[in-house]
Amino acid sequence: MSGPLLSSGGEDRRAQLVQGLGRVRARIADACAAAGRSTSSVTLVVVTKTYPASDVAVLASLGVRDVGEAREQELRDKRALLDPVDGPATGELGEGVRWHLLGRLQRNKARSVGRLADVVHSLDDPRLVAPLSRGATEVGWTLGCFVQVSLDDDPGRGGVVADRLLPLADEVAGTDGLRLLGVMAVAPVGVDPDEAFGRLRVLADSVVAAHPGATAVSAGMSGDLEQAVAHGATHLRVGAAVLGDRPLTG
Ligand SMILES: *Cc1c(COP(=O)(O)O)cnc(C)c1O
Repeated sequence: MSGPLLSSGGEDRRAQLVQGLGRVRARIADACAAAGRSTSSVTLVVVTKTYPASDVAVLASLGVRDVGEAREQELRDKRALLDPVDGPATGELGEGVRWHLLGRLQRNKARSVGRLADVVHSLDDPRLVAPLSRGATEVGWTLGCFVQVSLDDDPGRGGVVADRLLPLADEVAGTDGLRLLGVMAVAPVGVDPDEAFGRLRVLADSVVAAHPGATAVSAGMSGDLEQAVAHGATHLRVGAAVLGDRPLTG
């Protein structure tokens, strides 16, 4: 492997990632113990947006199985370097990683995301359903989908307002090539994460009542993963606490 995306830091960088990952895994274990949950009920998605593809390769060698990207272009570039086939991960990275897309989705990129991602966390518009389905179907893949809900009813920051959550979940569940996994949210700035994730829990339960298989909850980042675990998160999206301060804006 070569090129700028793959040449960062060598052994020093590996040692940093070992340390960051160890710290975050310890925090998750403590949070699970405090909540009386098994650590196996929580999936850590390491958010590698803006970090080089070489970091993804190192993380995979350290046992990370789930990585998250914010943008279609960066997902495409990293897969081209590390895992160069559309559709499900091919196993070129050890046993393969699952690629999660968790940034704001653009409609004109949705079909490509359907081909490239294993899981999408940011489905928040019914107009994204058809192109995501088309992309996934083209590569013979079922795309895991979280419906993103806004916890401050400000759709400008991503996520459907609460009363649009169930209709969108119904539509995802009824679409070929897509599988409804559950709900996703970001705790709004300036709101107590306990309050935000408590609200998310209620919304998640309303989706499970209609779709008993859709039990996943994507919530919690570097700063609030403990509160997310306390309120039942099954997927944590953690970047900076594993990888260090972001090299570029993202
Ligand atoms: C960047 C990002 C994260 C990770 O944030 P950190 O603070 O680096 O842990 C999680 N979720 C979403 C939607 C993001 O865009």
